[in-house]
Amino acid sequence: MAGSGAGSAKRETKMDRRRFLEAGAGLTAGLAGLGPAAVAAADPPRIRRYVTLGRTGLEVSDISFGSSRSSDPRLVRHAAERGVTCFDTAESYRGGDAEEAIGEALQGRREHFVITSKHKAWSGETRASMAAALEGSLRRLRTDYVDIYFNHAVNDVRRLQNPEWREFTDRAVRDGKIRFRGVSGHGSALVECLDYALDHDLADVILAAYNFAEDASFFEKMRARFHFVAPQTGLTRVLERASAKGVGVVVMKTLMGARLNDMRPWETGGATFSQAAFRWVLSRPHVDGLVVSMTDAASIDEYVAGSGAGPLGAGELGLLGRYAELQGPRYCRPGCGACAESCPAGVEVSEVLRTRMYEVDYRDSALARADYAGLGAGAAACLACDGAPCLRACPAGIPVAAFTRDAALRLARGAPARS
Ligand code: SF4
Ligand code: SF4
Repeated sequence: MAGSGAGSAKRETKMDRRRFLEAGAGLTAGLAGLGPAAVAAADPPRIRRYVTLGRTGLEVSDISFGSSRSSDPRLVRHAAERGVTCFDTAESYRGGDAEEAIGEALQGRREHFVITSKHKAWSGETRASMAAALEGSLRRLRTDYVDIYFNHAVNDVRRLQNPEWREFTDRAVRDGKIRFRGVSGHGSALVECLDYALDHDLADVILAAYNFAEDASFFEKMRARFHFVAPQTGLTRVLERASAKGVGVVVMKTLMGARLNDMRPWETGGATFSQAAFRWVLSRPHVDGLVVSMTDAASIDEYVAGSGAGPLGAGELGLLGRYAELQGPRYCRPGCGACAESCPAGVEVSEVLRTRMYEVDYRDSALARADYAGLGAGAAACLACDGAPCLRACPAGIPVAAFTRDAALRLARGAPARS
């Protein structure tokens, strides 16, 4: 696969100042309408650290713009103004509107930014179909290449075993339509899929769900507070393995459900919960950077202020500990499939609970319903099940049946919208 140089060590970079100023010049004009707090701050926060994504050599802000929940070019420009240089999207986000927004906002300055996009390449899909999907993304993004093209939300290793994916991406690299290929995921089979991708050189970059509560070292630090160690999914191991091979490691879902307002009363020591959560993952030696959904100017400013690595203070650790206590019995761990065998109906519990998280925690019904619709029968079987088989199946204490039924009632096609 394409890629320049080698080296597995995390490297910080100084973005060329001239390039950065060129990228930002003129973007301010697009900020009208974002609100006075967003544009009038005397000393607005900025990205403080740029990193290299493993062997790709790509230099990016350590916090990237996630577009799964927004399609407003003004937000893209706002993030660029704050020093964000990497924009992550997918053909499926907002029905293609997220790609359109990035394309519109960055048109004319393409070379200053790293753009990633994604396609769900299925196990039986042909190269021609994948190529057509890529052409659609390029058209919406108003560019002739994407820097990293991910096989999206991989949760079945057969999708990676399809030789058409390798052949398609090899050809697209030769044709200059993608620079690097990757694998993204957040499902129960994530660890198996990432190991397969690493074994078979199918990823220059991986994008994986990962946060402080999936890191055993977090619970070791907080031993006095917790009398349990959270179920470990093997994610830390596979991310360390990727980093050691020189594969770029970017993480997402770093906010463990992103119930930010729950934490506001305790944010008295300077950093917010999100900034503490970012600092935790950005300080892991096996993590290069993170992607976070950016949905409004105020949260962009809060997020970019969390740029940079370094040890957490006691106050920040306290925020993470409090959040883990609050959200622990509600948050389905990416990469965990511990309850899978318990369900005789084969409900994909972790996938269903992810869509419920979008609905209940993110309050993003459009994203929740779109992803739930992609799960086929979803949790329909749960509505006719007494829940006995999966009772106590989750070591984290999640009431599986109650949550999956709730997801089915909220998100099935035709279900009425709830507040
Ligand atoms: S409620 Fe029944 S059908 Fe639903 S996940 Fe549990 S065992 Fe499976
Ligand atoms: S519900 Fe619990 S056991 Fe099942 S996948 Fe989620 S965290 Fe793992």
